[in-house]
Amino acid sequence: MSFSESQIQQYGGHRQKMVERHLSDRGVRDLRVLEAMNRVPRHLFVPAALQHRAYGDHALPIGENQTISQPYMVGLMSELLGLSENDKVLEIGTGSGYQTAVLAELAEQVFTIERIKNIGQASQKLLDRLNYRNIVYKIFDGTNGWRDQAPYDAILITAGVQKVPPPLIDQLKDGGKLVIPIGDLESQKLTVITRREGQVESKDVAECKFVKLIGKFGWTDNGHS
Ligand code: SAH
Repeated sequence: MSFSESQIQQYGGHRQKMVERHLSDRGVRDLRVLEAMNRVPRHLFVPAALQHRAYGDHALPIGENQTISQPYMVGLMSELLGLSENDKVLEIGTGSGYQTAVLAELAEQVFTIERIKNIGQASQKLLDRLNYRNIVYKIFDGTNGWRDQAPYDAILITAGVQKVPPPLIDQLKDGGKLVIPIGDLESQKLTVITRREGQVESKDVAECKFVKLIGKFGWTDNGHS
Protein backbone atom coordinates (compact mmCIF):
# COMPACT_ATOMS: atom_id res chain seq x y z
CA MET A 1 0.00 0.00 0.00
CA SER A 2 1.32 3.45 -0.91
CA PHE A 3 1.88 6.16 1.70
CA SER A 4 -0.55 9.06 1.89
CA GLU A 5 0.64 12.48 0.74
CA SER A 6 0.49 13.74 4.34
CA GLN A 7 2.69 10.88 5.61
CA ILE A 8 5.26 11.78 2.96
CA GLN A 9 5.03 15.54 3.52
CA GLN A 10 5.34 15.26 7.32
CA TYR A 11 8.46 16.92 8.75
CA GLY A 12 8.72 19.11 5.60
CA GLY A 13 10.12 22.04 7.60
CA HIS A 14 12.73 19.83 9.27
CA ARG A 15 13.68 18.42 5.88
CA GLN A 16 14.23 21.84 4.40
CA LYS A 17 16.36 22.87 7.39
CA MET A 18 18.42 19.69 7.04
CA VAL A 19 19.15 20.61 3.42
CA GLU A 20 20.15 24.15 4.35
CA ARG A 21 22.19 23.51 7.50
CA HIS A 22 23.75 20.14 6.91
CA LEU A 23 24.16 20.25 3.14
CA SER A 24 24.30 23.69 1.47
CA ASP A 25 25.91 25.46 4.42
CA ARG A 26 28.58 22.74 4.50
CA GLY A 27 29.44 22.96 0.82
CA VAL A 28 27.12 20.60 -1.07
CA ARG A 29 26.31 22.72 -4.12
CA ASP A 30 24.70 20.43 -6.69
CA LEU A 31 21.13 21.70 -6.97
CA ARG A 32 19.79 18.38 -8.20
CA VAL A 33 21.19 16.70 -5.08
CA LEU A 34 19.73 19.37 -2.78
CA GLU A 35 16.33 19.11 -4.46
CA ALA A 36 16.37 15.33 -4.32
CA MET A 37 17.16 15.36 -0.60
CA ASN A 38 14.40 17.89 -0.06
CA ARG A 39 11.96 15.44 -1.67
CA VAL A 40 12.91 12.08 -0.14
CA PRO A 41 11.05 11.55 3.18
CA ARG A 42 13.98 10.46 5.32
CA HIS A 43 11.74 9.93 8.38
CA LEU A 44 10.15 6.93 6.66
CA PHE A 45 13.55 5.20 6.36
CA VAL A 46 14.33 5.10 10.09
CA PRO A 47 12.67 3.01 12.84
CA ALA A 48 9.38 4.62 13.99
CA ALA A 49 10.76 5.43 17.46
CA LEU A 50 13.58 7.50 15.89
CA GLN A 51 11.52 9.45 13.34
CA HIS A 52 11.85 12.69 15.28
CA ARG A 53 15.65 12.43 14.89
CA ALA A 54 15.59 11.63 11.18
CA TYR A 55 16.59 15.12 10.03
CA GLY A 56 19.54 15.66 12.37
CA ASP A 57 23.02 15.24 10.92
CA HIS A 58 23.82 11.81 12.31
CA ALA A 59 23.74 8.17 11.36
CA LEU A 60 20.97 6.17 13.08
CA PRO A 61 20.60 2.45 13.79
CA ILE A 62 18.37 0.48 11.39
CA GLY A 63 18.69 -2.98 13.03
CA GLU A 64 21.08 -5.94 12.43
CA ASN A 65 23.95 -3.69 13.66
CA GLN A 66 23.69 -1.50 10.56
CA THR A 67 23.09 2.23 10.20
CA ILE A 68 21.45 4.76 7.88
CA SER A 69 24.23 7.17 6.83
CA GLN A 70 24.24 10.78 8.03
CA PRO A 71 22.57 13.29 5.64
CA TYR A 72 25.78 15.24 4.94
CA MET A 73 27.57 12.05 3.82
CA VAL A 74 24.65 11.08 1.59
CA GLY A 75 24.68 14.56 0.02
CA LEU A 76 28.44 14.62 -0.41
CA MET A 77 28.61 11.12 -1.91
CA SER A 78 25.72 11.84 -4.26
CA GLU A 79 27.39 15.04 -5.44
CA LEU A 80 30.75 13.33 -5.95
CA LEU A 81 29.19 10.76 -8.27
CA GLY A 82 28.32 13.62 -10.65
CA LEU A 83 25.17 11.89 -11.87
CA SER A 84 23.09 12.91 -14.84
CA GLU A 85 19.56 11.77 -15.53
CA ASN A 86 20.55 9.17 -18.15
CA ASP A 87 23.03 7.40 -15.89
CA LYS A 88 23.05 3.84 -14.71
CA VAL A 89 24.31 3.48 -11.14
CA LEU A 90 25.38 0.56 -8.99
CA GLU A 91 25.02 0.87 -5.21
CA ILE A 92 26.60 -1.63 -2.80
CA GLY A 93 24.92 -1.66 0.64
CA THR A 94 21.21 -0.85 0.24
CA GLY A 95 20.78 -0.56 4.01
CA SER A 96 17.71 1.51 4.84
CA GLY A 97 17.21 2.36 1.15
CA TYR A 98 17.49 6.10 1.80
CA GLN A 99 20.62 6.65 -0.30
CA THR A 100 19.05 4.37 -2.92
CA ALA A 101 16.04 6.69 -3.15
CA VAL A 102 18.29 9.73 -3.55
CA LEU A 103 20.17 7.97 -6.37
CA ALA A 104 16.87 6.99 -8.00
CA GLU A 105 15.89 10.68 -8.05
CA LEU A 106 19.17 11.58 -9.79
CA ALA A 107 19.80 8.78 -12.28
CA GLU A 108 17.85 6.76 -14.81
CA GLN A 109 18.43 3.34 -13.27
CA VAL A 110 19.77 2.15 -9.95
CA PHE A 111 21.02 -1.37 -9.28
CA THR A 112 21.38 -1.95 -5.54
CA ILE A 113 22.89 -4.89 -3.67
CA GLU A 114 22.49 -5.77 0.03
CA ARG A 115 23.99 -8.82 1.74
CA ILE A 116 21.51 -9.07 4.65
CA LYS A 117 18.25 -10.49 3.36
CA ASN A 118 15.92 -8.93 5.97
CA ILE A 119 17.37 -5.48 5.40
CA GLY A 120 17.29 -5.75 1.60
CA GLN A 121 13.72 -7.03 1.52
CA ALA A 122 12.43 -4.37 3.92
CA SER A 123 14.04 -1.59 1.88
CA GLN A 124 12.64 -2.93 -1.37
CA LYS A 125 9.16 -2.99 0.16
CA LEU A 126 9.51 0.57 1.39
CA LEU A 127 10.85 1.90 -1.92
CA ASP A 128 8.03 0.10 -3.76
CA ARG A 129 5.51 1.80 -1.47
CA LEU A 130 7.13 5.12 -2.30
CA ASN A 131 6.61 4.30 -6.01
CA TYR A 132 10.25 4.15 -7.09
CA ARG A 133 10.19 2.15 -10.32
CA ASN A 134 13.76 2.61 -11.56
CA ILE A 135 15.48 0.48 -8.90
CA VAL A 136 16.53 -3.15 -9.31
CA TYR A 137 17.39 -5.13 -6.16
CA LYS A 138 19.62 -8.07 -5.35
CA ILE A 139 20.60 -9.90 -2.15
CA PHE A 140 24.21 -10.85 -2.76
CA ASP A 141 27.84 -10.14 -1.86
CA GLY A 142 28.27 -6.78 -3.57
CA THR A 143 32.08 -6.94 -3.48
CA ASN A 144 31.63 -8.98 -6.67
CA GLY A 145 29.63 -6.17 -8.27
CA TRP A 146 26.72 -7.05 -10.60
CA ARG A 147 28.36 -8.28 -13.74
CA ASP A 148 25.28 -8.91 -15.93
CA GLN A 149 24.31 -5.26 -15.82
CA ALA A 150 27.81 -3.73 -16.17
CA PRO A 151 29.26 -1.31 -17.13
CA TYR A 152 28.01 1.49 -14.87
CA ASP A 153 28.38 5.27 -15.16
CA ALA A 154 28.88 5.42 -11.40
CA ILE A 155 29.33 3.04 -8.47
CA LEU A 156 28.74 3.88 -4.80
CA ILE A 157 29.86 1.69 -1.92
CA THR A 158 28.19 2.63 1.35
CA ALA A 159 30.34 0.47 3.66
CA GLY A 160 34.05 0.68 4.48
CA VAL A 161 36.85 -1.53 3.19
CA GLN A 162 40.66 -1.57 3.10
CA LYS A 163 41.08 -1.84 -0.67
CA VAL A 164 38.75 -1.28 -3.61
CA PRO A 165 37.27 -4.65 -4.66
CA PRO A 166 38.78 -5.23 -8.15
CA PRO A 167 35.49 -6.39 -9.80
CA LEU A 168 34.00 -2.96 -9.10
CA ILE A 169 36.73 -1.15 -11.07
CA ASP A 170 36.24 -3.62 -13.93
CA GLN A 171 32.52 -2.82 -14.01
CA LEU A 172 32.96 0.95 -14.23
CA LYS A 173 32.59 2.71 -17.60
CA ASP A 174 35.49 4.66 -19.02
CA GLY A 175 35.13 8.15 -17.51
CA GLY A 176 32.94 6.73 -14.74
CA LYS A 177 33.27 7.50 -11.01
CA LEU A 178 33.39 5.19 -8.03
CA VAL A 179 32.95 6.55 -4.51
CA ILE A 180 34.11 4.37 -1.62
CA PRO A 181 35.17 4.71 2.05
CA ILE A 182 38.70 3.25 2.30
CA GLY A 183 40.51 2.61 5.57
CA ASP A 184 40.47 0.52 8.74
CA LEU A 185 37.59 -0.27 11.10
CA GLU A 186 37.91 2.98 13.08
CA SER A 187 37.92 5.50 10.27
CA GLN A 188 38.12 5.73 6.53
CA LYS A 189 38.77 8.26 3.80
CA LEU A 190 35.96 8.88 1.41
CA THR A 191 37.72 8.25 -1.90
CA VAL A 192 36.70 9.12 -5.45
CA ILE A 193 38.13 6.89 -8.15
CA THR A 194 37.86 7.88 -11.79
CA ARG A 195 38.54 5.43 -14.57
CA ARG A 196 40.17 6.94 -17.66
CA GLU A 197 41.43 4.91 -20.60
CA GLY A 198 42.20 1.90 -18.45
CA GLN A 199 44.00 3.98 -15.77
CA VAL A 200 42.55 4.87 -12.39
CA GLU A 201 42.88 8.20 -10.61
CA SER A 202 42.19 8.31 -6.90
CA LYS A 203 41.41 11.28 -4.67
CA ASP A 204 40.62 11.43 -0.91
CA VAL A 205 37.94 13.95 -0.07
CA ALA A 206 36.86 13.52 3.56
CA GLU A 207 37.20 11.53 6.77
CA CYS A 208 34.31 9.19 7.44
CA LYS A 209 33.19 6.20 9.45
CA PHE A 210 31.07 3.48 7.88
CA VAL A 211 30.15 -0.06 8.91
CA LYS A 212 32.18 -2.90 7.36
CA LEU A 213 31.88 -4.04 3.78
CA ILE A 214 31.78 -7.79 4.33
CA GLY A 215 32.50 -10.24 1.53
CA LYS A 216 34.94 -11.96 -0.79
CA PHE A 217 36.85 -8.73 -1.53
CA GLY A 218 36.11 -7.05 1.81
CA TRP A 219 36.21 -7.82 5.55
CA THR A 220 35.33 -11.24 6.89
CA ASP A 221 32.43 -11.44 9.32
CA ASN A 222 34.70 -11.55 12.42
CA GLY A 223 36.40 -8.24 11.73
CA HIS A 224 39.58 -9.43 9.99
CA SER A 225 40.31 -8.61 6.42
N1 SAH B 1 23.30 3.68 2.34
C1 SAH B 1 22.83 2.95 3.46
C2 SAH B 1 24.01 2.52 4.31
C3 SAH B 1 23.74 1.33 5.11
S1 SAH B 1 25.08 0.69 6.04
C4 SAH B 1 21.88 3.80 4.26
O1 SAH B 1 22.08 5.02 4.31
O2 SAH B 1 20.95 3.27 4.85
C5 SAH B 1 25.86 -0.36 4.89
C6 SAH B 1 25.09 -1.55 4.38
O3 SAH B 1 25.99 -2.32 3.57
C7 SAH B 1 24.56 -2.49 5.44
O4 SAH B 1 23.19 -2.67 5.27
C8 SAH B 1 25.34 -3.80 5.19
O5 SAH B 1 24.60 -4.97 5.46
C9 SAH B 1 25.66 -3.68 3.71
N2 SAH B 1 26.78 -4.49 3.24
C10 SAH B 1 27.95 -4.77 3.88
N3 SAH B 1 28.72 -5.56 3.10
C11 SAH B 1 28.03 -5.77 1.94
C12 SAH B 1 28.29 -6.49 0.74
N4 SAH B 1 29.43 -7.18 0.54
N5 SAH B 1 27.36 -6.50 -0.24
C13 SAH B 1 26.20 -5.81 -0.08
N6 SAH B 1 25.88 -5.12 1.03
C14 SAH B 1 26.79 -5.09 2.03
